[in-house]
Amino acid sequence: FVEFVDVAKTYDGETLVVRGLDLAIRQGEFLTLLGPSGSGKTTTLMMLAGFETPTRGHILLGGKAIDALPPWRRDIGMVFQNYALFPHMTVRENVAFPLKVRGLSGADAEKRVERALDMVKLAGFGGRRPAQLSGGQQQRVALARALVFEPRLVLMDEPLGALDKQLREHMQLEIKHLHRSLGVTVVYVTHDQGEALTMSDRIAVFHEGGIDQLATPDDLYDRPETAFVAQFIGENN
Ligand code: ATP
Repeated sequence: FVEFVDVAKTYDGETLVVRGLDLAIRQGEFLTLLGPSGSGKTTTLMMLAGFETPTRGHILLGGKAIDALPPWRRDIGMVFQNYALFPHMTVRENVAFPLKVRGLSGADAEKRVERALDMVKLAGFGGRRPAQLSGGQQQRVALARALVFEPRLVLMDEPLGALDKQLREHMQLEIKHLHRSLGVTVVYVTHDQGEALTMSDRIAVFHEGGIDQLATPDDLYDRPETAFVAQFIGENN
């Protein structure tokens, strides 16, 4: 469904922060990129989203090279840690924004926005501004905004990093539920082993710009293939 073929990235022309990545993402799966800070997870996600260009290699989506497509043409929804909601817009306007960018407005757009808000249990909150919402509610708005145009792929970069433990665990369940009910492919970035193990169909363990092991949570836990994977999966944070 998504394929990275020998993808490498350097920002300074010297150091490879992603070193010749080969990765196949399956349609409908929940794939987590797990690894320590600086191991290249975000860079990998940014190249898939279209905000960074690979220095070498190609990325295919649905069998087609997307290297030349700008982000808004890739049909990919995105959720980040800091939500990046527009503070001056209402919840409804925030969620409608990706539709507007794609030239969709009117009754059909309004219906989609209400459906997306309903999906994240925020029906009735459309008229509020982000500052009038809790952290968890703001994160749900970001989710609704990522899902409103029914993307074929959703990317999430540490989306729960700013939430306290209890809310984080609650939102983990909600994201999993949305993933299952929508059947959308999710690529999720985290450095939290517990989060990765509970949420993922498969986990790619990043280490110094490459993938040490790509496997199911059970396999990673029971059969780590490198000393790094064994040590990193075993750590609690
Ligand atoms: P984190 O969990 O801290 O976000 P990460 O695994 O996502 O880490 P990246 O953000 O991909 O790692 O960073 C990989 C390396 O690339 C780091 O050494 C980082 O300093 C460097 N890097 C990332 N973005 C840029 C940039 N825009 N310009 C220059 N260097 C960058």
